[in-house]
Amino acid sequence: MLNFEIARKRMVQEQIVNRGITNPRIIDAFLKIPRHLFVQEAMAAQAYSDGPLPIGEKQTISQPYMVAYMTDLLNLSGNEQLLEVGTGSGYQTAILATLVKRVSTIERIRSLAMQARKVLDSLHLLNVNIKIGDGTLGWPEEGPFDAILVTAGAPAVPETVAAQLAPGGRLIIPVGDESNQTIIRIIKEKDGTLTRETGIGCRFVPLIGQQGWQING
Ligand code: SAM
Repeated sequence: MLNFEIARKRMVQEQIVNRGITNPRIIDAFLKIPRHLFVQEAMAAQAYSDGPLPIGEKQTISQPYMVAYMTDLLNLSGNEQLLEVGTGSGYQTAILATLVKRVSTIERIRSLAMQARKVLDSLHLLNVNIKIGDGTLGWPEEGPFDAILVTAGAPAVPETVAAQLAPGGRLIIPVGDESNQTIIRIIKEKDGTLTRETGIGCRFVPLIGQQGWQING
């Protein structure tokens, strides 16, 4: 039988540290959160492999490296009020919840949100608020946010979400067409201007909503 702790340590070393992510707080979070609890039981043996996995509803749990890469770009110090759009399995949510003060996360598919809530509760991650709805509109009642992470591919940066950044805040989002995107980092300067930086290429499921892709048919 697979030893999950050993598999997790190997994942962290080979997929995350060896690829250049060395922030000790992030490493600790990945060593602590049991990724196999966020996939269906039949897939638990693959939970620490180097890629995304299906989680049902045609959605995926992201590749561990991608979760680490985007988390690293957020430059988290520990005091942040953070918005996540696209809860999915809740794995990235769990990593973030160990690194910031409070996570507000939005998922459009009810069954995924409910399952994520169950696993997060079982891990006693109590600083997470989950909403079922269209995350392209953000969550103004919980903002402004010091950090925002969108975990689905967008045609463009949703303006309503960017507007919910606090001064000094960072927004990470994959932007591109439906099959290929680039990770973008938006920083809201203290004077309110937005600066934009480009990261690595990626392939995410689509961000579906009023300020994302429209569902056809
Ligand atoms: N970070 C997640 C994880 O570790 O499991 C992976 C998220 S998955 C790649 C993207 C998620 O975004 C899917 O669960 C999808 O249903 C959700 N999504 C897509 N459009 C959305 C929207 N407008 N609002 C909220 N969630 C959305």
